[in-house]
Amino acid sequence: MADPRGFLSTPRQTAGRRPVDVRIMDWKEVYTEFGPAELERQAGRCMDCGIPFCHQGCPLGNLIPEWNDLVRTGSWRAAAERLHATNNFPEFTGRLCPAPCESACVLGIAAEPVTIKQVEVEIIDRAWTEGWVPPRRPAPAAVTSGRKVAVIGSGPAGLAAAQQLTRSGHAVTVFERADAPGGLLRYGIPEFKMEKRHLDRRLVQMLAEGTKFCCGVEAGHDITAARLRRDHAAIVLACGATVPRGLPVPGADLDGIHQAMEYLPLANRAAAAAADPAISARGRDVVIIGGGDTGADCLGTALRQGAASVTQLEILPRPPGQRPPGQPWPVHPAIYRVSSAHEEGGDRVYAVSTQRFLADRAGRVRSLELVEVDLADGPPRRRPGTERELRCDLVLLAMGFSGAERGRLACGLGIAFDARGNVARDDSYATSVPGVFVAGDMGRGQSLIVWAIAEGRSAAAAVDRYLRGDTALPAAITPAAAPFR
Ligand SMILES: Cc1cc2nc3c(=O)[nH]c(=O)nc-3n(C[C@H](O)[C@H](O)[C@H](O)COP(=O)(O)OP(=O)(O)OC[C@H]3O[C@@H](n4cnc5c(N)ncnc54)[C@H](O)[C@@H]3O)c2cc1C
Ligand code: SF4
Repeated sequence: MADPRGFLSTPRQTAGRRPVDVRIMDWKEVYTEFGPAELERQAGRCMDCGIPFCHQGCPLGNLIPEWNDLVRTGSWRAAAERLHATNNFPEFTGRLCPAPCESACVLGIAAEPVTIKQVEVEIIDRAWTEGWVPPRRPAPAAVTSGRKVAVIGSGPAGLAAAQQLTRSGHAVTVFERADAPGGLLRYGIPEFKMEKRHLDRRLVQMLAEGTKFCCGVEAGHDITAARLRRDHAAIVLACGATVPRGLPVPGADLDGIHQAMEYLPLANRAAAAAADPAISARGRDVVIIGGGDTGADCLGTALRQGAASVTQLEILPRPPGQRPPGQPWPVHPAIYRVSSAHEEGGDRVYAVSTQRFLADRAGRVRSLELVEVDLADGPPRRRPGTERELRCDLVLLAMGFSGAERGRLACGLGIAFDARGNVARDDSYATSVPGVFVAGDMGRGQSLIVWAIAEGRSAAAAVDRYLRGDTALPAAITPAAAPFR
């Protein structure tokens, strides 16, 4: 039973951020500690709703009111168990999720929603500190399947699928072409959003449970598709949506213009090694094209590298500060948000489009020409006379991704793609090739970590059913599940 007056007596509180001038001098996470007493009060704001819409907002179906009440009453260990009942990696979502559950929280209709994400991260951090997250080894030999499963890709979808399948008794090997596991968790998302020690700690747990990792191995190249099929009873593809959107304007091939996902992995590696990256923003006038989260990650990274200036360009107009009428509760609204990176510096310019890049004598980008656009009705229209030049000697393209790679792996397996550029699948995550399944961004398209984990869990249940004829693994979502709109 929740505290019936909690939300009346306690205002919402979120975690503080370290001072900007201090945090841009290092790569550590920006948030300060919350403290258990305040957290228990925050959890006590939950009304334990008869119909908890927070569940609907969360693709994992996290048991939010249950763990809120356990935290309120000081039962942290039980809260950690309930948290893990639906989420393999709450330390990732608790740090990185945009929290659609909070947008869907019933309290949000008339007041500030429960600070669900903070409760989540504090539960799991405490659980790790207290030693409540031991390896959960597979069930006894009697129920091990003796079947080998290959998981291709070690982002959140691949890791979730691998952990579920290992725990249910299959012999799982994760193949990853990068030199270390984690996918975008390691080489996309910067350290200041999630320190990699959280990922490494979870990988130690997975190794102890029996999941094998083969890194530096590109499936389809270093190991052929035919061999993968021959050696494994099932394959889960979780290779992400890695084909970046380009900007087909004059000068786009000049030196100094890079995709965000060329820049961020180098920056993450350099931050981990305390070295200088091959592409650095130090002393540069940086322009980031794309106003989303990837762009914000480039912004925070460029500021830490010592950029002279950073400007983020977005083709859409500045979103409203409050929920627009077309996006009522419980929708996760597109509103103006100030991420930690935006708080740290840089300018944001809205409703502009880049027309061309201009070069210096050495063939390096020296500026770009932009024009204001009108989006009142229909596609963007240029507003003649609003052209202007913006100085820049490093340009980062952060305009999203158009789908999964159609490289040697896809060709070797012969899998079909859908009209949106993702790997086609049926309602049990099965591709067009028997025994080959797909989860995460590779099947859904560019999405979020919480969806990738939900897909990995659900695909694991489908694979288990395929191998055994039945499954006890939970399936959080169907491939067709979509956010509230
Ligand atoms: C810069 C950036 C920041 C983001 N920030 C956030 C955030 O803060 N919060 C959030 O919720 N979401 C965020 N996202 C989105 C989120 O990271 C993705 O939705 C999520 O990582 C998708 O998980 P995945 O497992 O499907 O794929 P990925 O994480 O992309 O992992 C795919 C893995 O497959 C490997 N791979 C590909 N092909 C092969 C092959 N042939 N053989 C072997 N390995 C292969 C890749 O190397 C990679 O490691 C961000 C995305 C980007 C690009
Ligand atoms: S919707 Fe909000 S108040 Fe209701 S149960 Fe969920 S977290 Fe608690």
